[in-house]
Amino acid sequence: MGVSRRAVAVRVEGIVQGVGFRPFVYGLATRLGLAGLVGNDERGVFIEVEGGSAPVEEFLAALTGDPPPLAVIERISTGPAPVTGRSTFVIAPSAAGGDRHALVSPDVATCDACLRDLTDPADRRCGYAFTNCTGCGPRFTIVRDVPYDRVNTTMAGFPMCADCAREYHDPADRRFHAQPVCCPACGPRLRFVGPAGAGDPLERAVRLLGEGGVLAVKGLGGYHLAALAADEPAVAALRSRKHREDKPFAVMAGDLAAARLLCAVDPAEERLLTGPARPVVLLRRLPDAPVAPSVAPGNRWLGVLLPYTPLHHLLLGALGQPIVLTSGNVSDEPIAYRDEDALERLGGIADAFLTHDRPIHIRTDDSVVRVFRGRDLPIRRSRGYVPHPLPLARAAPRPVLACGAELKHTFCLVKGDRAFVSHHIGDLENHETLRSFTEGVEHFRRLFDITPEVVAHDLHPEYLSTKWALDQDADLVGVQHHHAHVASCLADNGVAGPVVGVAFDGLGYGSDGTLWGGEFLVADLAGFERAGHLAPVPMPGGATAIRQPWRMAAAYLDLAYDGDVPQDLDVVRRNAGRWPAVVALARRGGNAPLTSSMGRLFDAVAAIAGVRDTINYEGQAAVEFEQLADPAVDEAYPCGLVPGGLVPAGARFAVPGVELVRWAADDLRAGVPRDVVAARFHNAVAGIVAAGCAVIREATGVSTVALSGGVFQNLLLLGRAVTLLEERGFTVLTHHRVPPNDGGVSLGQAAVAAARDAI
Ligand code: ZN
Ligand code: ZN
Ligand code: FE
Repeated sequence: MGVSRRAVAVRVEGIVQGVGFRPFVYGLATRLGLAGLVGNDERGVFIEVEGGSAPVEEFLAALTGDPPPLAVIERISTGPAPVTGRSTFVIAPSAAGGDRHALVSPDVATCDACLRDLTDPADRRCGYAFTNCTGCGPRFTIVRDVPYDRVNTTMAGFPMCADCAREYHDPADRRFHAQPVCCPACGPRLRFVGPAGAGDPLERAVRLLGEGGVLAVKGLGGYHLAALAADEPAVAALRSRKHREDKPFAVMAGDLAAARLLCAVDPAEERLLTGPARPVVLLRRLPDAPVAPSVAPGNRWLGVLLPYTPLHHLLLGALGQPIVLTSGNVSDEPIAYRDEDALERLGGIADAFLTHDRPIHIRTDDSVVRVFRGRDLPIRRSRGYVPHPLPLARAAPRPVLACGAELKHTFCLVKGDRAFVSHHIGDLENHETLRSFTEGVEHFRRLFDITPEVVAHDLHPEYLSTKWALDQDADLVGVQHHHAHVASCLADNGVAGPVVGVAFDGLGYGSDGTLWGGEFLVADLAGFERAGHLAPVPMPGGATAIRQPWRMAAAYLDLAYDGDVPQDLDVVRRNAGRWPAVVALARRGGNAPLTSSMGRLFDAVAAIAGVRDTINYEGQAAVEFEQLADPAVDEAYPCGLVPGGLVPAGARFAVPGVELVRWAADDLRAGVPRDVVAARFHNAVAGIVAAGCAVIREATGVSTVALSGGVFQNLLLLGRAVTLLEERGFTVLTHHRVPPNDGGVSLGQAAVAAARDAI
């Protein structure tokens, strides 16, 4: 023992359990000739190292500089430890129940090392569909309870064989303490359910797909439906049996090279496609992409994902061509994930099933992400991301449960400075999704040991999430929908405000009981003031007007032309028979609630431009309208802001959407091409965002803008708005961790409730 010998105690917090952190530390310390120990406890990983000064320094540098790929180090602290003269490095046993608060990892796509095992004829896991290690495999979808041990996962029914047990207990092995470790001798097995035939389950499934069949495949978080992406009759059959008219299907390509044959992939998109979360990435489709027309009708974008389980790798490898991979459900029902239920519900859609005997504990849909200016813009945050907590800028004094909104529902639990946003529950409109929500809350409460004392909810009295919240025995906090959107953007960016929050979406319940959706708020986490909004218009027939955008066109045109709508407009001609009654309804009121929704304005102009009169999935008219717009067009329709006095009390300005409607209609009557009209409208809305924010900055001095709400999934609008705002010197916040749509609302509600609780 020389004078230079020293000992250091290290504590590492974050996602450091179940990701190969202890074997990594063990390997590093042993390689550097250091003695000491490493172990897991309720806070993460604790380490003591002892040895020469230089190797100890090297150890500490490597710890933060080169951790295992799946580890997320949130905090690391070091301090002196007593020099004891010990000579070995050991992995300390976990304290009983000590893993209780440790973080459960999201599911992780098959790693390169496991992929090599899968394809190496000499490896005992060659061709084995459930190969995994500490660096990859199922996690969140198989966890039943904490601590995260095999007995508390859906692998409990598969006792390890001697070979697997040896790997599991060997600190130097890649599978050390990998809870779902298994092999062909001891693990789950594939099963083919379908027409009789020769071959193993995989061969039969591949043959069925190759012959144009529709296959139900059991994945990580639920069943998918698959068909050859280039096979029009197969994809069309899948579409009609699933009762899904136009909503695009995602395509799974075998690898990055195969994805590049379908779409343009920039470096940021490549990182997402090939990363451990493996979301569906919305990519620019190549003009000659070999994809059947029914995959994504009339869509310039294509949702593409790469294989994320060994089963996908085997399937795609054997097929040698991309497949459609869409949720295993009928229409908008939740994705099937229990075997009996899947066989029953998907039996009429799929020609056969490729399934297995490892249960899925919790239904988890594929995540969907777009890339905006090189960064993630989540559309749906679920598999691969959940339940990784999002950090809050300031800790919540008491634990919070935020119940979310209705469509694209999520909930959120907060303890301290960690926000656990749930997986995608679906549209909270029926008993089944409500049960997914309440069971999900119970599951999260157990996993993360959170007993909420504060319950946050939307103000909409008819949302099932609101009704459920009002029954809870806790301190209730009602959060206005668009304030929640803006707060979610603040929390997403770790900012407290104040900001100018621009929340554009379909609909949300306003503080005054009317339907909002085109809002300029001056907000921080605790509160907001409504500084401006789109001028309200009637929604003839209420919810029917959401499904029939031509009704919004009728209401808007009637106002835009003062009751004297030009009869030569195509939208009028197409709907001539039903037009007068709807205009009368709009004028009379009654079942025509007023709304300031930006989504409804997009619907109206889309219908006027001939995009469509009715929709068959949420937001369809706006989605197609964005694609129609010619991005080369820079002109915009002029649109002034109507100052304060003319609009409801407290607001500083209103945006007269009718002016944009009249400009667009006049253009179309004058023969201006539809794609130019669409572009001029988008540019005008971007201009309104910038102008509204400038007015508010003038009055308040606030120069940071947060853009949120489902309308900002529109990349053309988002891009133009950010550019204009930045040109005017604003700092602009957009979404990167949670979606701008209602999937992000629960995080916003939680942030608001936590901030109010701290006052
Ligand atoms: Zn692996
Ligand atoms: Zn085994
Ligand atoms: Fe919303």
